Amino acid sequence: MDAGQRIGIVGAGAWGLSAALALAETGFTNVHVWERENAGSGNTARAAGLVSTHLREEQDIRWVLDTRRRFEALRAWGTEQGLPSAPHAFHQVGNVTISTKNDEFKLEQIRGRVLRAGGKAEFLSAAELARPAWRLKSTAHSSGLFSSDDGYVEAGDLIDLLQARVRSLGVGVHTSQAVGVDVTGSDVRGVTTTAGVEPCDQVLVAAGAWTKALLARSGLPLPVKPYRTQLAQLEFEHDASLPIIHDGEQGVYARADGPHRILVGDGTEHVESDPDAFNEGTDRGFIEKIAKSVSRRWQRGEAARYRTGWAGLCVGTPDRNAVIGPDPRVKHLHLMTGDNGFGLMRCLSLGALVAARLQGKMSPGAEICAPKRLDFGLKDFVIREGFEL
Ligand SMILES: Cc1cc2nc3c(=O)[nH]c(=O)nc-3n(C[C@H](O)[C@H](O)[C@H](O)COP(=O)(O)OP(=O)(O)OC[C@H]3O[C@@H](n4cnc5c(N)ncnc54)[C@H](O)[C@@H]3O)c2cc1C
Repeated sequence: MDAGQRIGIVGAGAWGLSAALALAETGFTNVHVWERENAGSGNTARAAGLVSTHLREEQDIRWVLDTRRRFEALRAWGTEQGLPSAPHAFHQVGNVTISTKNDEFKLEQIRGRVLRAGGKAEFLSAAELARPAWRLKSTAHSSGLFSSDDGYVEAGDLIDLLQARVRSLGVGVHTSQAVGVDVTGSDVRGVTTTAGVEPCDQVLVAAGAWTKALLARSGLPLPVKPYRTQLAQLEFEHDASLPIIHDGEQGVYARADGPHRILVGDGTEHVESDPDAFNEGTDRGFIEKIAKSVSRRWQRGEAARYRTGWAGLCVGTPDRNAVIGPDPRVKHLHLMTGDNGFGLMRCLSLGALVAARLQGKMSPGAEICAPKRLDFGLKDFVIREGFEL
């Protein structure tokens, strides 16, 4: 490996910074990240931050578990440095997926995957779901799956830690600088700034929902679709030990946001959105759905009060796998996008995958994310939620 080669990363969201961290930790000494606004100000800032092993694919669960281990190392470093964000970066509150008797088999399947991947998962009966501390209303037909090690991250704290860590390792983070990719023939020369070309030996585009438009400007189509999803913050008294709830009966997810608030999400639109022109607020229909779900699911849920809400974009791919690795069309160009709505929880592990690929190595899962699997001429595909089981 040529540790001194100049590597340019476009985008300082959770994915771009995680890649920068893994590259610097691997020994790359000349890594630069360009960010058009502030680090973490893209869709990372809008995430609920769930770190959940209740996923569709075993490999994704492995990445979540690995990311959690890496969070711990990052947190330990941050604590040593006295960073205020370190103690709050991960809240291990557990995670419950609630299902009805009709699709209980899904819980069986998830449990099998979680255990095979090395995580924890136990069944809960309707009576166990109704434990007093959680104040859940469960019907005789509800059942649940509980993973005690899952939890959530505060995206802002994670970004603070990541940014401090990569800077401490010598990574250049250049904020308020929108850049393009300078592709000449079938090679990449660097990134384009308002001042000219910044030469790079390799470029990684980790611009989230903006990746598609950015590559299109270099004549490189990408079959991904940014799609909108929503989150509401409700004023609601609950026990501080409330786990993450994936409510299969109501079609929403929720987590505590301090002792007096919860975040409740869904409202996903299965149509492509323009990252520079979409409705960043919540829809009336979404707020009504959330209100109904919370009053059906929680004791005194009807007293919950809508405080605020927002929408953000996730990036869908035709097969719901991420797009990570070298672009087969252009030498020295690498891609890192296609979070399919659950990118934060896998960020550090996927960063390590990028670092391996930049050294020409394949790590587990690299094949399923490889850009070369894509049909770059694909005109359309159906967006499906990555989180959906
Ligand atoms: C409402 C909502 C809830 C979510 N909840 C969860 C959850 O609970 N758990 C989970 O794991 N994931 C969740 N996600 C998904 C998560 O937010 C994403 O997977 C993750 O943030 C992706 O990070 P990223 O770095 O790819 O994208 P981003 O954070 O969007 O980063 C891309 C960066 O590139 C920058 N950029 C763009 N163009 C340029 C340019 N030309 N030059 C320089 N910089 C540029 C942008 O400003 C941005 O900062 C949620 C998403 C939404 C919208």
